[in-house]
Amino acid sequence: MKKLEEYVKSIPDFPEKGIIFRDVTSVLQDADGLHLAIDTMQEKIKDLDYDVVVGPESRGFIFGTPIAYNNHKPFVLIRKKGKLPRETVSATYDLEYGSATIEMHKDSIKPGQKVLIVDDLIATGGTTEAMIRLIESLGGEVAGVVVLIELAGLKGRERISRYRLESAICYE
Ligand code: IMP
Repeated sequence: MKKLEEYVKSIPDFPEKGIIFRDVTSVLQDADGLHLAIDTMQEKIKDLDYDVVVGPESRGFIFGTPIAYNNHKPFVLIRKKGKLPRETVSATYDLEYGSATIEMHKDSIKPGQKVLIVDDLIATGGTTEAMIRLIESLGGEVAGVVVLIELAGLKGRERISRYRLESAICYE
């Protein structure tokens, strides 16, 4: 059986020159790759105590839902601005060009609940930091973060150093 990292295709110069894009679709489109990804991420946080899984649009949904399902926990969606139909809280964060706003339903986390954040990839940690702000604004406690891929050179780990971060694959 192949190792998990062997399922990730690395695309040089995408979306722009000098960037190596780590493609998670190549993991998902292989049945063994998909199993190995979810199993490895789950294994990394098997000792973690949490009540709710939270994942951001869109690839956080793909990895977060099976982890929530397998562990019989609820799954809460973080979406881009304007997509959620009920009352929301929002957080805005900087992107390389411009900014982005993410939202979650106000009633999706109860004060004191322990939250596991799941995403496909952490780069600068900007997205993760904004998710933490949202969760904490509702009184949730971030128990940990698990991602399939960590791009260590972009120092996301340092940005969220107060929190536990686990990654299934780490690129320097
Ligand atoms: P951050 O906010 O800088 O940590 O960026 C994280 C987000 O950017 C992730 O949710 C990814 O979806 C996306 N992203 C950044 N670099 C890559 C990459 O190389 N492959 C796939 N997604 C990426």
